[in-house]
Amino acid sequence: MALLEPPRVSCASCIAGAIMNSVGREQRLGSLEMSTEAEQFAKVYFEAIRDSPVGFCLLSWGDFVYLHVNRAFASMLGYEPDDLVGRSHEEIQPRSELAESARIKGDLAKGGPLGESLERQFLHRDGSVIWVEIHPMRVTDPDGRQLVVSQYLDVTARHQAQAERDALEKLNADSNAQIQRAHERLEHLYAEAVENSHIGHTVLSMDSYRYVQVNQAFADLLGYDRSDIEGHLNSEFVPVDQSENDKAIRLGIEAGQALPDLSRRRLRHRDGSDIWVDVSPVRLTDTDGSEVVVSQYADVTRIVKAEQAQTLAEQEVAEVMADLSFRSTHDLLTGLHNRQALIDGIDQRLRQHSGRFALLYIDIDNFKHINDAISHEAGDRVLEEFGRQLMGAIRGTDSCGRIGGDEFVVIADDVATHEDAVEVVHRLQERIGGTAISVGASHVTIRFSVGIAMSRENVSAQTLLQEADTALRRSKAAGKGRWQIYDDATRHEALRRLEVGHDLAKSLRQGEVTAYFQPIVNIDTGDLLGYEALARWIRQDTAVAASEWIDIAEEAGLIVDVGQKVVAAGIHRLAELPSPLTVAVNASMAEVGNQDFASLIEDRLTAEGADASRLIVEVTEQVLLQAPDSARIFLARLVEQGVQVHLDDFGTGYSSLTHLQELPVTGIKLDRSFTAALGAKNGRSDGLVAALGSLAEQLGLDTVAEGVETVEQAAALLRAGWHTGQGWLYGMAVPAPQTADLNLRSSKTAQTNGAQSTHRRRRTDVSA
Ligand code: C2E
Ligand code: MG
Ligand code: MG
Repeated sequence: MALLEPPRVSCASCIAGAIMNSVGREQRLGSLEMSTEAEQFAKVYFEAIRDSPVGFCLLSWGDFVYLHVNRAFASMLGYEPDDLVGRSHEEIQPRSELAESARIKGDLAKGGPLGESLERQFLHRDGSVIWVEIHPMRVTDPDGRQLVVSQYLDVTARHQAQAERDALEKLNADSNAQIQRAHERLEHLYAEAVENSHIGHTVLSMDSYRYVQVNQAFADLLGYDRSDIEGHLNSEFVPVDQSENDKAIRLGIEAGQALPDLSRRRLRHRDGSDIWVDVSPVRLTDTDGSEVVVSQYADVTRIVKAEQAQTLAEQEVAEVMADLSFRSTHDLLTGLHNRQALIDGIDQRLRQHSGRFALLYIDIDNFKHINDAISHEAGDRVLEEFGRQLMGAIRGTDSCGRIGGDEFVVIADDVATHEDAVEVVHRLQERIGGTAISVGASHVTIRFSVGIAMSRENVSAQTLLQEADTALRRSKAAGKGRWQIYDDATRHEALRRLEVGHDLAKSLRQGEVTAYFQPIVNIDTGDLLGYEALARWIRQDTAVAASEWIDIAEEAGLIVDVGQKVVAAGIHRLAELPSPLTVAVNASMAEVGNQDFASLIEDRLTAEGADASRLIVEVTEQVLLQAPDSARIFLARLVEQGVQVHLDDFGTGYSSLTHLQELPVTGIKLDRSFTAALGAKNGRSDGLVAALGSLAEQLGLDTVAEGVETVEQAAALLRAGWHTGQGWLYGMAVPAPQTADLNLRSSKTAQTNGAQSTHRRRRTDVSA
């Protein structure tokens, strides 16, 4: 049947009826009166079906062979309509459909209902499978033949989409299963990793703050078994001093604060030691809904300890540096500035030209005595206390420091005139002069001497200090507890002394320093007992008395040279003198402490074959009190060898007679100031001298009175119990006493009265 030919009326009316049915008209075509009008309709319907974009076909009932197909259906399957007419339904279906087709056919054959729609697969001409939605309708044509009119819709796209969705779903299902498996594997791996990790892991319950689970590394970190930790409160493993801190963190967490990402904390090891850890906690909800904190712990104890050690080392270094810096600028005993800091302070003031200032050089009087007579500790205590008092007595703007020994310096700011400077000294004397410092059971009264130098332009700190020091020496020479300003006269004096020292050194080289001998006699009889060797400097043919230059020789360090000459000459003289005449030599501080001087005496005695027991070494009280222990030992050794040691100028120092017992001395020489005072109207000196004499005697000490100038003095000495004397009354120092001098005239004995007794001889040593 050609497609383009108009169908036969019966067929057309049948199709038209089917179509009308398919659009819901209930009217059966069979009952339609065939009329020209009907044929017209059928024709129109046929054409509509033929050209419809929806697939239509007419099949025979039972074997389902295509009787007519429209172009849309044919092209749906890649055919021309004619290619399909006469072919059965099954011929254009995939094999997989045949069983279903057979089943449907069977059902229909048994009178089963023809469904309203069904979806079946067809084979496209190119071999591909096409899904078709079929809407069949059973019709009967005018000849009474059973036919099927079907409408076909291509739903392949929908099926493909569904298939893709299904495939995707399947794929998803597969990958979900894979993920689930991967998860399980990972969980297992993670559990293994945590278990074998070297980093501590814990799970802590947020309800109870007990450890739910810990790994071996965490247990090892704390030195416990896991079972000792699991189920225990975390606070049990925290040092006591950190528990408060932990409590605060806990309260914060309960109040909703976030956990810190990473924090450094301390835990307590089983052995009690501290373990430092870096903790990174994560708050999680467990599968049962409970809140837990999962934490990792990195042991950083070694790092922290290293850091602490470094900090400690840095602190120590800083402390040492601070200490060094303090030591470099401070006196450790008093805590005051030291010499360097004082010089810096003076320099700074001089540079800044910040007004005039006075430099006070302070020296504690008789400090050496305190040090030696009481103890060195006492001396230190006095220095400390004096420093403290000095610090308290100066004004806020002033500075003070200890420059060495018992010497202190005050920089008094804004002091422009001598008067102002003296005012400052007076204030210091008033406030701290004469204060008593208790040292153990003793009380020491502090007095001090002051040398003052005034600042000015173009002067150095060193020069100012020297000037103040020079003024201090002058002040001390004038007596204790005084002050002296360095002025032109002082400057002049300092220069003069420098010059004298220079000349003396030259004279010493040229042999112009020699020993003169002054007789020492028995006051009762006038008999010669011996001589004192006194140094004389023959200067421009004049013998200059020792009193005029000995201190300069000491200052200039020349006294040892002087002493060597006098001692050598003295011992030489001693060897010439008949026994029991004695020779006394003087020794100053520098000599007594000098090993060479000790050897010199021993060597000379041996060399001259002189009798040690007739040699007397005279040392002043000051020397003996200030002498170092080594010098005392040396003197004691001399005494042991039989050499006598006399305390010179006795009464001017601070020795008490009882104190003398402890010193290595065999006799005392009463200072000539006592002799001079004898016979005074109030007569107090006489009594004192008498008391001193008898006490010395009780102590077994020899006694010699110096400066006997008159017979009255000689008589007074005898009355006071002093029997040995030295003075102009008996003779001055002479270069080399003649043998004739050995027999002193009886006219000079105390018993003699007459014109000579009151006559004071002029000092003319050189003419002797
Ligand atoms: P000194 O040891 O007390 O010596 C006695 C001093 O008194 C001597 O003074 C002597 O000349 C003086 N003199 C003696 N008789 C009288 C007198 O009747 N009236 C007065 N007013 N004075 C009298 P000189 O020689 O000037 O010695 C002074 C001091 O110098 C000595 O005092 C002694 O401490 C020291 N000295 C003397 N020679 C030496 C020496 O070779 N070495 C040392 N280290 N010191 C010496
Ligand atoms: Mg003497
Ligand atoms: Mg003397």
